[in-house]
Amino acid sequence: MFFFKKQEPEKRTLQELGDALNLEQQTAASLLNSVRACFVFLRDFSMELAELDTSGFREELNELSKTFSEDIPLGKRERIFERGKGRIGEFIARQQSLIKAREKELKDIISILTKAVASMDAENHMFNRRVFDQSGKLAELAHLDDIRQLKNQLEANVTQMRQTIEQKREKDKVRIQSLSTRVASLNEALEQARTASQMDALTQVHNRRSFDETIRNLVERNTVESIPFALYLIDIDNFKSVNDTYGHQVGDRVLLATAQLCKSEIRGEDFIGRYGGEEFVLILAGMTLGQAKKRGAKICERIGASRYRVDDLGKPEIISFTVSIGVTVYQKGDTTQTVIERADQALYLAKRTGKNKVCT
Ligand code: GH3
Ligand code: MG
Ligand code: MG
Repeated sequence: MFFFKKQEPEKRTLQELGDALNLEQQTAASLLNSVRACFVFLRDFSMELAELDTSGFREELNELSKTFSEDIPLGKRERIFERGKGRIGEFIARQQSLIKAREKELKDIISILTKAVASMDAENHMFNRRVFDQSGKLAELAHLDDIRQLKNQLEANVTQMRQTIEQKREKDKVRIQSLSTRVASLNEALEQARTASQMDALTQVHNRRSFDETIRNLVERNTVESIPFALYLIDIDNFKSVNDTYGHQVGDRVLLATAQLCKSEIRGEDFIGRYGGEEFVLILAGMTLGQAKKRGAKICERIGASRYRVDDLGKPEIISFTVSIGVTVYQKGDTTQTVIERADQALYLAKRTGKNKVCT
């Protein structure tokens, strides 16, 4: 038979128990140290910002940390830690949402700057100078730590820059407007001068220079394409005696009346000019010689049939006068000289054969 020997519980010596207790105490102390280190890390990790009340949070962490260094009963420590834990979580959540808000604000700033830079192009030196000064203010903003303050300041500066740009635009607009008004009135004056340089002051029809230019252009164009025209030379008959009988002023009025009457007989595209003295010239587009002669006869007839009342001679008097007309049409190969010469010969013929008539 076997008998088991009843085993005695291990009897730990006092020394061994003391060692075990020591080890427990060391472990607890090490854990407490680790917890306190975590509090320090948390404190350093928290962002230093007024809106987060970071300093309040840090004080709380210090208090909590103290709890873990002092000889406080376990139950009480646990309750204190539970409260602290909730507040730590809250702080972290607030810090995260603030970081997100900052990110958005930074994006806004970038967009504000981008827009500001985009609207700064194409401006002149003075303006650039002003913008440069203002951009200096922007550079100063770099010293601001508070992001809201930075954003507000930045927006204020950008608004100022925009105002500068807007003022410049307004000024430019006014300047451009006044310049274009000046250009328009100069153009008008130039046009008037050009017209005046082509007109005869007394009779208000084209002058000799304008006629020379017109006939030269017409003859030149006829070498390329066919632009038929009739050339009339109209000479007032016995004009010298009009002057002699009624005076030069009446003579001038007769010249004006002749020009006006001829003008009323032609169309817009036709040309009337004073060739010199009491001679006028007409260029009528698209005519055969027969048609040209007919028109000439009509003009001759109308002038001859016109009556003018003259009052400057003491007693009122009715005067009349006639014209002789030489007409020709452009012929292939004509030069300005040949076509004018032919009209002149026709006029000479009309004068020689009794005046107040049209010859070709
Ligand atoms: P004909 O029938 O042969 O053409 O004779 P006419 O007297 O008309 O011609 P003439 O060439 O002998 O005289 C033209 C006159 O026209 C001479 C000149 O004093 C006058 N005369 C020229 N220009 C002007 C002007 O601008 N005003 C006035 N009132 N007379 C002018
Ligand atoms: Mg004459
Ligand atoms: Mg004459």
